[in-house]
Amino acid sequence: MKLKIHTRQLQLAHKWKIAGGQGDTMHEVVIVELSDNDGIVGRGEAAPSAVYKETPAGVVEFYRRLDVNGFSFDDIPGSMARLETFAPVPSAARCGINTALVDGAAKRAGKAIYDYYNLGFRENQHVTSFSIGIDSPEIIREKVRAAVHYPVLKLKTGDARDRENLAAVRSVAPNKPVRADANEGWKTKEQALEMLEWLAADGHIQFVEQPLPRTASVKDFAWLKARSPLPLYADESCHSVADIPHCAECFHGVNVKLVKTGGLSVAYETLQAARRAGLKTMIGCMIETSVLITAAAHLAELTDHLDIDGNLLITNDPYLGATAKNGKISFAHAPEKHGLRVAERSIRP
Ligand SMILES: [Mg+2]
Repeated sequence: MKLKIHTRQLQLAHKWKIAGGQGDTMHEVVIVELSDNDGIVGRGEAAPSAVYKETPAGVVEFYRRLDVNGFSFDDIPGSMARLETFAPVPSAARCGINTALVDGAAKRAGKAIYDYYNLGFRENQHVTSFSIGIDSPEIIREKVRAAVHYPVLKLKTGDARDRENLAAVRSVAPNKPVRADANEGWKTKEQALEMLEWLAADGHIQFVEQPLPRTASVKDFAWLKARSPLPLYADESCHSVADIPHCAECFHGVNVKLVKTGGLSVAYETLQAARRAGLKTMIGCMIETSVLITAAAHLAELTDHLDIDGNLLITNDPYLGATAKNGKISFAHAPEKHGLRVAERSIRP
């Protein structure tokens, strides 16, 4: 098997700022292509996140020292076990390889990934939220106006301007359903409860992601869960299957992301484990191209909510895959039939 990598510079429509973040306008990802002797090419993407101290340069360096001899689309568990012998493996890099392996395996089987996993996919039934990053109230109003066709918004909170920012959203979209994501930005359980009570009073907040830092104690999370007027979803606290028992104690749902699970295989297992534990499920994303966003869309049937808008926040997506017109995820115009159902745009935007 052969491995090719390409870095891609993604241009964001607006600087992207979340609690504790910098506010960048450019974002780098690494596209992975694994090819076998039969000419099948599996594609994946590594979208490293500074939140988890991973960088594009670190991912590229890992891929340069990785030897994919012996990897096979016919043996994903065996290939992933081989990958771990090159430890330490950045989670984003694991995601790139695993997604490429699943893409290749589904292509070999002549199936879309959602059929390879026997999930199926209901057209236009799954709606993604559209994220509004932390910004000045004027820019937030502009973003909310531009997102008029998306029926659900996700507002980044956990910042000193939370109240101003929700007021800015409400001045443009008074009744639109909004999810709030604190990104660990509220520091104590008392502060988090006060903010949750304030958000609940809005009347149109669906749920809140990661109200406390992932390092907060189970006791503090459980205290908050028992009192919260809104459902609480784990994001930074939920990486993989092993985190599900903890999340069932501390949250009502989980936000699963391919970059955190290390690709589709473990995301599939994590979503199933979450459902068995009685948790609500969602799939989220980082700033990503249509490669990884479309990969996540294939698991939509295992979720209650989607937040797969990373490709909608960039202006130069190099790939085409699932679409999100009016927020509704569709494969009707996907350029390929099998695997991820993604292709490179022939003319770069
Ligand atoms: Mg989040």
